[in-house]
Amino acid sequence: MPVALYVHVPFCASKCAYCDFVSVPGSVDSADVDSFVGAVLRTLRQDVEPEVLADVPTIYIGGGTPSMLGADGLVSLLSGIAEVAHVRPDAEITVEANPDSVDAALVEALAELGRELTPAGVLRVSLGVQSFDDDVLRTLGRRHNAAATTGALALLKNAGVRVSLDLMCGIPGQSPESWRATLDTAVASGVGHVSVYPLTVEEGTPLARSVDSGQSAEPDADVAADMMETADEILHQAGIERYEIANYARPGQESLHNTGYWTGVEYLGVGPSAASMLSVRTAAKTFLERDLGLVSACTASEMPLEPGDIVSRVRFVQPPSLDEFLSGACSESVESEWLTANEASREDAMLGLRLCRGISVELVQEANVTDVIKRLEADGLLERAHEAGAVDRWRLTRRGWLVANEVFGAVWTQE
Ligand code: SF4
Repeated sequence: MPVALYVHVPFCASKCAYCDFVSVPGSVDSADVDSFVGAVLRTLRQDVEPEVLADVPTIYIGGGTPSMLGADGLVSLLSGIAEVAHVRPDAEITVEANPDSVDAALVEALAELGRELTPAGVLRVSLGVQSFDDDVLRTLGRRHNAAATTGALALLKNAGVRVSLDLMCGIPGQSPESWRATLDTAVASGVGHVSVYPLTVEEGTPLARSVDSGQSAEPDADVAADMMETADEILHQAGIERYEIANYARPGQESLHNTGYWTGVEYLGVGPSAASMLSVRTAAKTFLERDLGLVSACTASEMPLEPGDIVSRVRFVQPPSLDEFLSGACSESVESEWLTANEASREDAMLGLRLCRGISVELVQEANVTDVIKRLEADGLLERAHEAGAVDRWRLTRRGWLVANEVFGAVWTQE
């Protein structure tokens, strides 16, 4: 089975007001880059059997701000991965970047890496743009301005690198006109992939403190929902179609890596706070081996399993500490969750419904959720796709999109 690879780069120049991702703010020097890249490659070499990395379809370098590794750091990281793993010649490789850390040397290095490592595939840059309105960017505590984004986009376009933009809506002070202008600018830039997210207030962030103290207004969910609708309209008119709740692409430019998350492709995450999802068979060939030994030794009272349940899938998240990761201590304290075969199928059904194409009737049967699916159909939240040429599938209706979390919860709990 193919296993996708995710690397979490825990560096950011400073923390954005709303962010609760794991990253250490501040500048990064070449020693920091070398020790981080060294730790990732050491983990892959020493703690993962080669078989796990024998057929890597996608690599996603996320964060944090991977572009802070600079051209040399990203070349060492990706070339080193390609020495340890067998990366498919048609693989998709994605690197997240922020506009203020994109320069000509970095773009040239990425374009060259793409040609070398994935000659029949694609190298993408996912650019953290959020808005083309400088006032909105200031509210979010972003370091860049719209001019920096325009400059980064020009460099990437000239180098022929495929680009995805992240945009954010529902921000206090962001007017409908500002949001429309951001969407129009995104479309005019010619990118083939756009992700759109509503702002959420995460506990412990400067934004949460500011909202709690009354200094900032709380984001309005209805305003955000209207803005998501506007995004749907404007992107659809431009031929950039929704394929997942928050993701839009021109035909053929959908993110393969992220689609893997919603279709049950196994993935291995390396780096502080990186998440993985592996079958038990694959997990036994990674740094989770020790934890798997514990599962077979434990009684049901110590593990969240019923007697007789057979674990089929493991989800785990590495500890958030960069120091721990650099010292190689992660395998001692991963946080893991164990799913039975039925739970794994239900999870596939729940995640698959995030996609516009929905899930197959076979998966519904396998997950044993036919009754709940029928009820959701009766409530007008799911429909069976029957149009000409479509495979027989279940998918969200327009009403279902509005209460998608409710639908996912019902499928997961079978209630
Ligand atoms: S750049 Fe991204 S990861 Fe870094 S602080 Fe801002 S939102 Fe968080």
